[in-house]
Amino acid sequence: MLGLLLFTALSLPTHAQWFTEQRDIMGTRIDVSLWHDDAPQGHAAVEAVMAEIERLDLLLSPYKSISELSRFNQQAGTGLVSVSLEFARLLEKSLYYSRLSEGAFDITFASLGQYYDYRRGQKPTKAQSQALLEEIDYRHVFVDREALQASMASASMKIDLGGIAKGYAVDRAVAIMRHYGVVHGSVGAGGDSRVLGDKRGKPWVIGIKNPRKVDAVAVKLPLDNVAISTSGDYERYFIDADSGERIHHILNPRTGESASGVVSVSVLGPHGIDTDPLSTTVFVLGVEKGLALINRLDGVDAIVIDRWGQVFYSDGLQQPNS
Ligand code: ADP
Ligand code: MG
Repeated sequence: MLGLLLFTALSLPTHAQWFTEQRDIMGTRIDVSLWHDDAPQGHAAVEAVMAEIERLDLLLSPYKSISELSRFNQQAGTGLVSVSLEFARLLEKSLYYSRLSEGAFDITFASLGQYYDYRRGQKPTKAQSQALLEEIDYRHVFVDREALQASMASASMKIDLGGIAKGYAVDRAVAIMRHYGVVHGSVGAGGDSRVLGDKRGKPWVIGIKNPRKVDAVAVKLPLDNVAISTSGDYERYFIDADSGERIHHILNPRTGESASGVVSVSVLGPHGIDTDPLSTTVFVLGVEKGLALINRLDGVDAIVIDRWGQVFYSDGLQQPNS
């Protein structure tokens, strides 16, 4: 009897399969795909990933007044306030990329950036731009990770973590997958993706959109174990009625206006918390300075498309025979 039971248990189908799910969180479409040999665990892993991204949205959303980000902004100019370790780390990482890029990446862009509304086609008034441009300055954000405290120098400063939050979210998603024993998985959060392992003997294929053609792919990349973040001027934008210019969501902190020059930047590297801010950074810096920055960093690469559709690669991606 025992022998028969054991035999039945061992011969049960294992249900090894792909689990995929899409949900709208963090203002974007979250795509999770993972392989698991146990159906309940596979489902649980997907749910846990989605729950983690929901948690990060509650922590980092500028649209939720109770998020830690919103509360930090509400307390701007009041001296040191308490922050969570997670929030402190994101601030530190953001300030690191600000220093590295001499201010091309700057989370205080929101001091002025909050007055852009891409859906409604609104931009700040001249008076707002004049008054708030000087409030864009990462050097006025202070964070002490040991003491779990942070501050902003003036009450009219605001930060936004939209240039790093989704990259961090895909890292967290991969950590959760690993916790569930997943070895083949991928998570996409709009422009930020990370893949764990390969797609069971095949690479994952991630496409970089053609920035000027809806639903067309410019470059297809076979990838495994990597994060990739793309910043484009085609996701959230409107055409300004006065100037005819494209007003989009990546701001040049020096001018307070949309960064121009390139139309798409993808950065590849081990972690989304780095590739995400770097893609935004290179977008602001442009082809030359942007690729020079990427080339002096270890372990990251970039693909840049300029406004004429020309594609540029960092040194690590150059074909040896071309
Ligand atoms: P997406 O949010 O579409 O993935 P990005 O990764 O390029 O695109 O991030 C753009 C977001 O980064 C903007 O929506 C805004 O929240 C934030 N941002 C815009 N300009 C800057 C900047 N100069 N420095 C830091 N963050 C920025
Ligand atoms: Mg980015």
